[in-house]
Amino acid sequence: MSDKSVAAEKIPRNFITDIIDEDLKEGRTDHVATRFPPEPNGYLHIGHAKSICLNFGLARDYNGTCNLRFDDTNPVKEDMEYINAIERDVQWLGFKWTKICHSSDYFDKLYGYALELIDKGLAYVDELSADEIREYRGTLTAPGRESPYRNRSKEENLKLFEMMRDGKFEEGKACLRAKIDMASPFICMRDPVIYRVRFATHELTGDKWCIYPMYDFTHCISDAIEGITHSICTLEFQDNRRLYDWVLDHISIEHKPHQYEMSRLNLEYSITSKRKLNLLVEKGYVDGWDDPRLTTISGLRRRGYTPASIREFCRRIGVTKQDNVVQMSALESCIRDDLNQHAKRAMAVLHPLKLVIENYGQEGVDATSFEVPNHPDDPSLGTRSVSFGKELYIDASDFRESANKQYKRLKLGYEVRLRHSYIIKAVSCDKDENGNVICVHAEAVPHSAGANVDGHKPKGVIHFVNAADCLRAKVNIYSNLFNVPNPGAAEDFLSTVNQDSCHVIEDAALESSLKDAKPSECFQFEREGYFCADVRHSKPGQPVFNLTVALRDNNKATV
Ligand code: ATP
Ligand code: MG
Repeated sequence: MSDKSVAAEKIPRNFITDIIDEDLKEGRTDHVATRFPPEPNGYLHIGHAKSICLNFGLARDYNGTCNLRFDDTNPVKEDMEYINAIERDVQWLGFKWTKICHSSDYFDKLYGYALELIDKGLAYVDELSADEIREYRGTLTAPGRESPYRNRSKEENLKLFEMMRDGKFEEGKACLRAKIDMASPFICMRDPVIYRVRFATHELTGDKWCIYPMYDFTHCISDAIEGITHSICTLEFQDNRRLYDWVLDHISIEHKPHQYEMSRLNLEYSITSKRKLNLLVEKGYVDGWDDPRLTTISGLRRRGYTPASIREFCRRIGVTKQDNVVQMSALESCIRDDLNQHAKRAMAVLHPLKLVIENYGQEGVDATSFEVPNHPDDPSLGTRSVSFGKELYIDASDFRESANKQYKRLKLGYEVRLRHSYIIKAVSCDKDENGNVICVHAEAVPHSAGANVDGHKPKGVIHFVNAADCLRAKVNIYSNLFNVPNPGAAEDFLSTVNQDSCHVIEDAALESSLKDAKPSECFQFEREGYFCADVRHSKPGQPVFNLTVALRDNNKATV
C-alpha cells in the first residue's frame, strides 16, 4: 500500500474531532499536536493500531504533528529489539512521525520538577515498604492513612531524594511521593509514588540513573515539554487525569496539554496485553511475536494483512467512550475486502487426488496450457499460463463415487468443468486396500476448453493443477489461537490456548506459477481462501503459504 492512500484517508468524525474543532474555533489552540506513546516492552498489537491510526490520523487531518514517543521509564522490561519493532510497525502501517522522542530524553528535567515539588512542600521521601504503602492507601470505601514520613521538612526531603539518586537506598527502601490527599475519593490521588529506586541499566541513559520516574508523573510532563495539545489515552486512565492536571498545575511549565480518554479495543479470541503476549512467546506457545495467529501488527503482517486493511478496520470500529468487544469477523472482513480486490488468483489443491484424462492427446483434448486472467475484474493484474496435461490433481473433497443432486462436484458418470479448462466426466476410480480412492479416471469433452458444447451442461466447476509441473508445498491452515472468546479474562489464560490452532498441510499441490511467489505476497487460492507466502520460512522457488482468511464468513461481522 502506498503512502498516497494513507494521505487520502480521513478519520470519521468522533468525539475527539468534535473537541478539537471546538478548541480551534474557540481559539484555545491554533494547531493540533498529538503523540503515540508506547512503552518499549513488547511488540505492537491491534489495540495499538487503533491509537496509531487516531493519533497520526489527527495530525494528518488537521495539518498538525504527531510524535512517536517511547515511554521508557522501566529499564527492567524494555529492550532495543522492541524499539526497532515499534518503529518498523508504525512505518509499515503507513505513518510518519514528526519526531522520535523518549521519556528518558527528559530525565534531567523530570528530576528538576521533582525537586520543585519537594521545594514547594508537595512531595516527600517515603520509607514505607511497597506493602505498607498499599495498606496505608485504603480502599474505595475506606480513606487512606498518612505515612509517618509524610511531614518531613523540605530540607530533609531534598537531602533524602538526593541520596536516592546517589544510590544510597536499596530498591524498595525509599520512594518519592506527591503530597496530595490521602482521603481523596480517587485512589490515584492518595499520595502517588512518583519516583522509585531501580538499579538497572537503561537502554539509552545507561547507568546514569538509579531512580526512575513513574508513568503518571512522566507522561503529563513529557506531553507538556513536547507541546502536545490533545493527549489521548484509554479509559482506564480516566481517574488519572486528575493527577495529570495536578502535576502540571504545580510545576513551572508553560504549556498545558489536556488528556482525553477513549475506549480500548478489545478483540474476540485475541490477547492485547504485551505482558501476556510475552508469556505466549517465552513459553513457546507461538512461533515468536510475529506468529501469524497473534494479532500483533507483525503477526498480522506475516498472516497476510495489508496496512490498508488494518487502517480500514480502525476506521470501521471508530472512536468512542463505550468499552465493547469487537468480533474477529470484523477484522477478517477488512482483509477479505482488500484481497478480493487486489490479490491475484491461483489454483491450489490442498488435498491432492490424482485425476487421469484418459483421452488426453486426442483431437480437441490436447492443450498443454491455458492463458488465464490473474483477476476476474482487474485486467491490470495481467494473465498467466496454467499448464495442462494427462495427469492432474484435484482436491479429494471434489470427488465422490456417488452423491445426491446437491453435490455439484465430480462423481462417477457425471460431468464438471475444470476451471479455465475442459468439461470432464468421471468414468472410474481406483482404490487402495482400505477402500480409499487414490485415482480418478476421466474423459474430457473435445473442444470444450473455455467453450460450451451442445449436450454438455456441467453443474459445477472444480480447480486442478497439472501433476507434471505443480509445486509441492507446505500450507499452514490457522484457526483461533484461543478456545474462548475472551481469553484475557480467564484466570489462567494460557490454559485457554487452542492446541490445534495450526493445521499443517505438508504436501499441497500448487500451480507452477506460485513458485515465483514473493515472501508476503498474497493470493486467492480459488475456492479455498486467501493465502500469503510466509516471510520467515519461504525459500526462493519454494514458498510456504499461510492461510490469511477464508473466502467467506459464516458469522456476518457486526461492528
Ligand atoms: P499493554 O498492556 O499491551 O502494555 P499499554 O496500554 O500499557 O498496553 P502502551 O505501550 O503503554 O501499552 O500503549 C501505547 C498507547 O497505545 C497508549 O496510548 C495506549 O493507550 C494505547 N493502547 C494500548 N492498547 C490499546 C488498546 N487495546 N486499544 C486502544 N489503545 C491502546
Ligand atoms: Mg503501558
